Amino acid sequence: MVCRAIKQKAHDLGFDLVGITSAEPLDDDKIAYFKNWLAAGNNGKMAWLQNNIEKRFSPALLMPVAKSVICAAINYKPAKFSNIIASYALYQDYHTFIKQKLAALADFIKKEIDKNLKFKICVDSTPIAEKALAQRASLGFIGKNCLLTNPRIGSFLLLGELLTNLPLKPDTPLKQKDYCKNCNKCLATCPTGAISEGRPFNANKCVSYLTIEHKGRIAKELKPKINYIFGCDACIRACLYNEKAPVCKNIQHSTQRLNLTANEILRWSKGDFDAVFADSAVARTGLRQLKRNALLLKTL
Ligand code: SF4
Ligand code: SF4
Repeated sequence: MVCRAIKQKAHDLGFDLVGITSAEPLDDDKIAYFKNWLAAGNNGKMAWLQNNIEKRFSPALLMPVAKSVICAAINYKPAKFSNIIASYALYQDYHTFIKQKLAALADFIKKEIDKNLKFKICVDSTPIAEKALAQRASLGFIGKNCLLTNPRIGSFLLLGELLTNLPLKPDTPLKQKDYCKNCNKCLATCPTGAISEGRPFNANKCVSYLTIEHKGRIAKELKPKINYIFGCDACIRACLYNEKAPVCKNIQHSTQRLNLTANEILRWSKGDFDAVFADSAVARTGLRQLKRNALLLKTL
């Protein structure tokens, strides 16, 4: 009854998916995999991933009184795609609105269910294994493209978590093995081999990492393979679960960002950049880096 009321409220607030898992640590094999992944240097220059490893896999270390994690997701599949900007960047920075929605959910729980609620909101920047927790909370499976994927609404998903001291009944995870099976569409589409059969994801080769997180020079052999100026949607757009997935209905995106070209961005002043991207995830990356990326796609 309590779980149903929380889920209904989450849907009313605009979340497309909501599920519950315990705050118990994730399985040891997930921690071991992540440590091996880091040890092999697959994280590129994202050194912060080496911090707080134990916390990342154990929500109760982030919030000692935590008993449950409410995992929520918003579908952001746009009606139209940009071919050079990852779809999530067409919207307002998701950290802002997901935090607001989770805060409203916590308010509701405090007023209607338990006035002694203790909670912590996590959206991406907190060290927490959000995809693994969302999978355990029944929101979806982890695809070969490493994305949390829901069989009904696909993998254009923005995630957030509400850690709570409430002992809520956990949902049953989906079975990983029932989904990707023999499909390899995302692997075949990846322009750089950052995802490939039988190998772990290699951020060093990923266009999304290279255009957003990687500050220095881009390796010569990778430059011709880069076809986005911010992020990369190739493996998400390829996924068969996204073909029939519904279009986003709970958030609005900026049509101004849809038809931008690399050449146009190369002519921009800081004022032009701010006018288009000030409230988006692109703002943190900055105009200088966007131009570095745009140069790779420049046409004569
Ligand atoms: S985001 Fe692009 S480069 Fe990165 S794994 Fe997916 S398809 Fe490959
Ligand atoms: S494209 Fe195929 S292999 Fe890749 S995540 Fe989607 S279903 Fe799985």
